[in-house]
Amino acid sequence: MQVLNPGSGLWIIRLSARDLPLPFFKPSLYRAPKIILNENPVSAVSLFLAPWVVPISSPVIADGAVAIRDGRILAVGDASILQSQFAEARVDGCQGVLLPGLVNAHIHLELSAYNHTPRPTPDQSFCDWIRALLKLRQAGDISAHETVRSARQMLEQQRNAGTALLLDIGNNILAPPASMQTPVEINFLLELLGPDAKAEEQVLARIGSLPDVVSATAHAPYSTTAGIMKALKKRADRLGHIFSLHVAESVDEVALLRTGQGCFREFLEERGAWDGRFPRPGKKIQGVVEYLADLGLLDANLLCVHCVQVNEQEVQLLAEHGCKICLCPGSNRFLGVGVAPLERMLHHGLLPAIGTDSMASNESLDLWREMRILREDHPCVSPARILTMATLGGAQAMGRAQDFGTLAPGRMAGLLNVNSPALQRAQDAEQLIDILTGHGQPDKLCWISGNGNATV
Ligand SMILES: [Zn+2]
Repeated sequence: MQVLNPGSGLWIIRLSARDLPLPFFKPSLYRAPKIILNENPVSAVSLFLAPWVVPISSPVIADGAVAIRDGRILAVGDASILQSQFAEARVDGCQGVLLPGLVNAHIHLELSAYNHTPRPTPDQSFCDWIRALLKLRQAGDISAHETVRSARQMLEQQRNAGTALLLDIGNNILAPPASMQTPVEINFLLELLGPDAKAEEQVLARIGSLPDVVSATAHAPYSTTAGIMKALKKRADRLGHIFSLHVAESVDEVALLRTGQGCFREFLEERGAWDGRFPRPGKKIQGVVEYLADLGLLDANLLCVHCVQVNEQEVQLLAEHGCKICLCPGSNRFLGVGVAPLERMLHHGLLPAIGTDSMASNESLDLWREMRILREDHPCVSPARILTMATLGGAQAMGRAQDFGTLAPGRMAGLLNVNSPALQRAQDAEQLIDILTGHGQPDKLCWISGNGNATV
């Protein structure tokens, strides 16, 4: 394992392709990408030309180019202009499209082996799904070795599907996955929870003993006391870590916080963890975001994941406090919890990120599929906006927009090159983005590394 920038507050683990269990890789699910190595000596300029360049932060360029030096993007623009500007550069021609790597802003790699968690039937609740998942986890049928192996396999799949950056949430720090030389970068958050006073005491003690290099976060308002959430948020703010929280995923969660009733109350009672803390005495709240606002947790360092059951006032609250949002449309569809009000979020100036969540609550963890589901769920939202969510939205949510999410001078040079017969037939930028967001993973996908010393 290589821990990078521990002082920066981000716990970044780089994994090595050679440490990944390739024999377990299923090519039927994900096509392995071809890797293009830029063997130019460091400090020399490389120029990659393509029929289409999609910078995200600026308009699509037909017959465009990206100039790279020392692992960073130097310039993005018209191919003929950059060729004359960098006349000495080594030139590589690509087919199809150049775009930034995708960002998966919510995943649980440690649940990759739980793809047999039953999908709730129409008469089952969100709590029934949690019961089923906990039963599987507590049965101990999946060994630690299998958990790590599945997590590594999933990571390889993420890389092969064009993901450059992941926000991974886990209850365990998995065996260190060794140094990575692929374009995938992981920001790992250790997730803690505790629903009652007894658990709170134990979790607060654990928080006090965590080394600063470990980023820690809370699970959800229904599973974690206000005291634990406040302590973890305070710690995250002090260390400059992201504070990610599952928020308003189901109507059952809203019901618990508002009335202290519903399936979550039954669930907590079953586990001997109900101590009557909802509804909060003297506090009349309408929703989960309002509850978080009341606790003073809303700010730009809070990443609210799901946000399905939020009303207009709550979206406004999130926007006013500059909170980050991550939508998980595939997981929401799998669990039947509803559709997040994306149009309202965009109307209030929010740019949500996209996450896949885990194999316990999704059919596959494929951001191309997530974009397609968003297109289906929100036909009035422009495809360009959805592609921006999958790239820049994720980078902003993770505080990494200086490196990821766009093709712009100064960004890291992990370029994604994709192609397919449909993309080749695109007549204009609009058609191109429509295909990129509506057709699933392109047939051909490869990474371009911009540093002569890097191996990918
Ligand atoms: Zn999750």
